[in-house]
Amino acid sequence: MWSEDAEQIAHAVTTSQFCCLTESMISNLSRRTTLLMLGSVAASAAIVHAQWNPALRYGPPRASHRLQIGGATLQLDFATGALDLADDIVTKRIEMAAHAVATYYGIFPVPRVRILIVPVADRSGVVQGTTWGDVGGWPGFTRIRLGQHTTQQELAADWTITHELVHMAFPTLPDDQHWMEEGLATYIEPIARVQAGELSAKQIWRDMLDGMPKGEPQPGDEGLDRTHTWGRTYWGGALFCLVADVQIRVATTNRKGLQDALRAVVAAGGTIDHDWPLTRALQIGDTATGTRVLMEQYRSWSTSPTPVDLEKLWQQLGIQRTGEQVEFSAAAQYAKIREAITQARPLSV
Ligand SMILES: [Zn+2]
Repeated sequence: MWSEDAEQIAHAVTTSQFCCLTESMISNLSRRTTLLMLGSVAASAAIVHAQWNPALRYGPPRASHRLQIGGATLQLDFATGALDLADDIVTKRIEMAAHAVATYYGIFPVPRVRILIVPVADRSGVVQGTTWGDVGGWPGFTRIRLGQHTTQQELAADWTITHELVHMAFPTLPDDQHWMEEGLATYIEPIARVQAGELSAKQIWRDMLDGMPKGEPQPGDEGLDRTHTWGRTYWGGALFCLVADVQIRVATTNRKGLQDALRAVVAAGGTIDHDWPLTRALQIGDTATGTRVLMEQYRSWSTSPTPVDLEKLWQQLGIQRTGEQVEFSAAAQYAKIREAITQARPLSV
């Protein structure tokens, strides 16, 4: 599997991009563990916009479809190559992922998007997703490498496409803050899918119980800006988002959350096709919620280890593990906060 991705990894050092692997690549690892595998590589990516168009090597698409979602135009292109699935099945899955992202952000974050489906012979499932900003005239560009023998069930269970599209909803950051880009996508993807009615809240909180401990600082950690391990990049970033979300809701008696902060960043033009320092986005987010949660949390988390008492947090949110599942407690201190995090809100377009 690594040889197939070698070219893509090589490009990661010269282009601004975000990429993720899927569970089909490493079947015995959890779905989020697999995307962490490439994190250490992607975290070292230099930021160079629009100097390399990843679509050029595939030639003209064999089929092209236009979708209107959340105020954006999405051009969905299929590169040459065999797929067992009919185009309209794939198209519907892309539509669903884009709808989830638009649901979370209130609009689709960039106005024009190209999504290129690249069939991968003799493989099954979503093999890989990669997203770039400002490539070939497109504010957002996502390439999905889709296995030739992907089934409808595999496509329905996929998280990668949604994760990739979430990347479009935040500015491109300096390398040291790559954890925020991956952390956001890791945290928002499942929440957006619950808000859109794709997944249940219990499913995604169970995944968070499994995943968040991987984001805790390990011995020798020097903070998120200075510790570019896979765990800290993806799950450390996701943990930052979860704690910030809860803290914003505590500070505003649950009237505002991270979702409000992130919608404000997009509204201010903070999308993948723009290079920003992270503090610019965090300040906009804090202004939108009337708090200082993001900036203050960033100050401590960026340069020091800051472990989180996750057992206490789960208890406060009213989430208990029961075997393979979780149960919710409506009487917990932050039960309403837990409910608000996955509560659907109307689109603004
Ligand atoms: Zn990613």
